[in-house]
Amino acid sequence: MAFPTETVYGLGADAFNPAAVARVFEVKARPSFDPLIVHVAGADEVVRVARGKGTAGVDPRVAPLAERFWPGPLTLVLPRQPAVPDLVTAGLDTVGVRVPGHPAARALIRAAGTPVAAPSANPFGYVSPTQADHVLAQLGEKIDLVLDGGPCPVGLESTILSLAADPPLILRPGAVTREQLEAALGTPLEVAGPTERPRAPGQLPRHYATRTPLHILDGPAGPAPADVGRVGLLAIIGSPRASGYAAVEILAPDGELASAAANLFAALRRLDAAGLDLVLAEPCPEDGIGRAIMDRLRRCASPR
Ligand code: AMP
Ligand code: MG
Repeated sequence: MAFPTETVYGLGADAFNPAAVARVFEVKARPSFDPLIVHVAGADEVVRVARGKGTAGVDPRVAPLAERFWPGPLTLVLPRQPAVPDLVTAGLDTVGVRVPGHPAARALIRAAGTPVAAPSANPFGYVSPTQADHVLAQLGEKIDLVLDGGPCPVGLESTILSLAADPPLILRPGAVTREQLEAALGTPLEVAGPTERPRAPGQLPRHYATRTPLHILDGPAGPAPADVGRVGLLAIIGSPRASGYAAVEILAPDGELASAAANLFAALRRLDAAGLDLVLAEPCPEDGIGRAIMDRLRRCASPR
């Protein structure tokens, strides 16, 4: 079933039931080399899927990170328990695990009595769903149930931090920022670059993509190009010089990047449904959550 989390809607299955997990891959048309994130109801349940040398049975750095960021949009990659099916981890010796911040997600995991493996509830490669109707529109015929928890408050997929790497490596930027993680761990962190060999599709150059071509502008938008047909604009706060667009989405009318993140995927879906020939996107400053927003925009953008 699909369920709300604070990041995006997930498509969940009992993480210990390979047949259920296989259905998730089938419904999403997701390649089996792409591992799923396992969701647990509390930090004390991490040991059900991960193992490590600390006294709690996991890496000693998990506790301070859990204390600060869980429940919340941070996924930790840790050595796995052998009982986790290979399909969940894509055969890796690590597992991605997090405690979601959305109360409905935690209630669901508790009711299920098992860790829940869940990718985003969208066809593979497309923009992640941030509302129940996004899930219904694309997967409604194929899944048993969608739990509607309203729009996702964060709106971007979780930050992924690998503690299995030395030094720890940020595999995907998200709402928990590099600065926050560095402060919590007391060490500088590496961020996986786009040129590095991809570990999973979450890190592929093109993913989270619309069907309509999208180009990222160098700065605030001006008039729409006259020679391209119907052009849409994805604006951050809106610019008085922007004119002539067939559709305009303003992501952060309040000027807050957190609002831009929360609105991004729904706006991309509306523009993708508007019969446009091209979408132009304004860039945002790349600090804090702005780094995660630009990361998703770049992966959505068409090669020039
Ligand atoms: P989602 O994009 O929401 O479907 O989350 C799945 C993504 O989490 C994958 O595409 C990977 O980028 C990442 N992930 C999950 N498990 C692992 C793992 N064990 N090692 C590295 N990345 C992982
Ligand atoms: Mg996804």
